[in-house]
Amino acid sequence: MTIWHFGPYSFALITSGIISFILFVILLRTRKEPLARLLAIGLLAEAEWSFFVGLSSANAVLSQKLILTKISYWGVYSCVPLFLLFVIHYVGKSKWITPRKLVLIWIAPAIMIILAGTNEYHRLIWTDFIPSALEGENVYIFIRGPAYWLGVVNNYAMLLAITILLYRNMAKSTHKIYRRQSLLMLFSAVPPWLANIIYVIEWEPIRGIDLTPVAFSFTGLLLFISLYNYRLLDLTPLVRDTLFEGIKDAILVLDQYNRLVDVNASAEKLLKYDRNHLIGRPANECLASIPTLIEKLKYGQDFHIEITLSDIERRELDINGSLIFSPNGEELGRLITIQDVTSLKRAEYMEREGRILAEALRDVALAVTSTLDISEVLDRLLENVYCVLPCTMTNIVLVDDDGVGRVAHYRGYTDPGVIEWLKNISFDIDEVYSYHYMDETGQPLIVPDTHAVDYWKIKDDKLRSYLGAPILVKGKAVGFLNLDHEQVGYYNTEHAERLQAFANMAAIALENARLFVKVNELATHDGLTGINNRRHFFILAAVEVQRAMRYEKPLSLLLIDIDHFKLVNDTYGHQVGDVTLQKVSGFLQTMVRDIDIPGRYGGDEFCVLMPETNIPDALIAAERLLTLIRDLDVITNQGTKHITASIGVATLSKNVSSFDELLHQADQALYSAKQKGRNQIVVYEKTKEFLNVHHG
Ligand code: GH3
Ligand code: MG
Repeated sequence: MTIWHFGPYSFALITSGIISFILFVILLRTRKEPLARLLAIGLLAEAEWSFFVGLSSANAVLSQKLILTKISYWGVYSCVPLFLLFVIHYVGKSKWITPRKLVLIWIAPAIMIILAGTNEYHRLIWTDFIPSALEGENVYIFIRGPAYWLGVVNNYAMLLAITILLYRNMAKSTHKIYRRQSLLMLFSAVPPWLANIIYVIEWEPIRGIDLTPVAFSFTGLLLFISLYNYRLLDLTPLVRDTLFEGIKDAILVLDQYNRLVDVNASAEKLLKYDRNHLIGRPANECLASIPTLIEKLKYGQDFHIEITLSDIERRELDINGSLIFSPNGEELGRLITIQDVTSLKRAEYMEREGRILAEALRDVALAVTSTLDISEVLDRLLENVYCVLPCTMTNIVLVDDDGVGRVAHYRGYTDPGVIEWLKNISFDIDEVYSYHYMDETGQPLIVPDTHAVDYWKIKDDKLRSYLGAPILVKGKAVGFLNLDHEQVGYYNTEHAERLQAFANMAAIALENARLFVKVNELATHDGLTGINNRRHFFILAAVEVQRAMRYEKPLSLLLIDIDHFKLVNDTYGHQVGDVTLQKVSGFLQTMVRDIDIPGRYGGDEFCVLMPETNIPDALIAAERLLTLIRDLDVITNQGTKHITASIGVATLSKNVSSFDELLHQADQALYSAKQKGRNQIVVYEKTKEFLNVHHG
């Protein structure tokens, strides 16, 4: 039989149980974070505890009362550990909870629950039950056994831990709102303390009445309020502190009197003081190293400044100051964030510089590919070097095949005397240390102070730092790019790398130009003899003939063919033939005047176009040529032999209207020289008639 009697005590307990349960439901439905879930479970445990203790106290049958009390133990001994776990999470020590520690936390509560459940077998928790003297309640005083105290000690230890954790957290909190929140949390631990002490010491007026569950539901309510009022779990002080401390920017909080109220770790590092030293002190003392900032603090305005600190190393700081207001608009102080943007600025600078360099190199590359005029290319290159690389003066030295260097292009020189000197000097690059070094190593050279090294012969105040880069073609220095600066120690390896990039472009340009000359040479000159080939000779000759005809100037053509040259080849071999052809062409080149144009007509046939030359002069030249050929020693394996040649001569006259005609006449004359027995000169026969007309 069950006898229920609900007095104020049981009513209070059941009500608090119901309230906790409602809070549990709200929390479960509205918040999903782990911390909120933990609080929800705690509230549920508390509800169970209150509810069943309430039922137990309302029940008049001892055996039933005992069962209900045992059930309430589930809640009793879950509540405190859950509260502890909640607080551990709240103060940011979640990492501290390992499976082992969880077991440790739960072991004593679990034992207590089991012991309570089995009390009739051992009576370790309760030894006896005496009805309370309190009127109107069915309260029994449970006479406590030894194990009961184990539970008490355990709960108190946990409550103590909770209190310590919350207290430490509060002490650490720096901002008002967080302090208030921590204080509320701390306060939430007080009711269970009080209620439990009263119960445990069996305070006579309410002996047997345990208000701890009511107290705990009060705790639950306070935590619930914290959660909603202060958005406790949205941004816990832990997160705020972690953020504040972990942030790389220095953060300073000043009060309205410009005293430091709070600083983070980065600020300590920046100001080179720890927070104990800084907090509470006026800003103009702590920030003495940043006077611009102190100046800004004088005005009640937000500000943003960028400054450069140059203590040990140069640092760029980006500083933001903003006023802090309370919700009702009163000025509380100021928040200052200082960001070290040195590396950012440096990266920006490098990026900008890199872009400028790339543009300059692109411009040079364009010049290299669009023009074969090496002088123009080098000029443009030097102009870009002058723009991109800081220097007082710059020049390009080109080295010829004999290792002699000359200044080919220059910029930045102002003294006419120096310019004149620069234009005319030449030197053996092996005898100039810097050039020799770059030629040997293929590397750029930095001379931080030209006055400090004895190999630098000419001391000039405008040339204190030097940077040079070799222009390398197939590993050999064909030139040098030189930079001079009036400042000592100006150049670094970065400059050197850039200059080398330009030098490499110069190398490409020079090599291009060289190849162009070579290809051009191959296209216009005969491979064996090196004189104009037939095609090129025709082009040049046609121009000369046109000119001579227009200005009615004399012009003659010699066509030279070696006699029986086939025999030379056949008898002494092609090699001897080749050498002979080279020798003969050599005569053509040496005996003729600058304005004469020699060429190889084909095989053993040569030609010389002689502007400003009439027949008598042409004959003199032809005669000289024949003599040279006759006197040529042809070295063969059968001893020294001699050859002869035949020459046909034609000259410009009224009956010649083109180079082809002139050539045809010379060919006719040559043919007739061969006919007449070779080793002689024949003038085109009809020439004479016209000559009379022409030249009198
Ligand atoms: P002729 O007195 O009538 O001129 O008799 P020739 O033997 O010189 O006859 P021709 O001028 O027709 O012969 C040209 C010879 O020149 C034929 C060829 O063997 C030789 N020859 C042509 N080009 C070269 C060359 O590049 N090297 C050598 N070694 N011989 C060449
Ligand atoms: Mg011949």
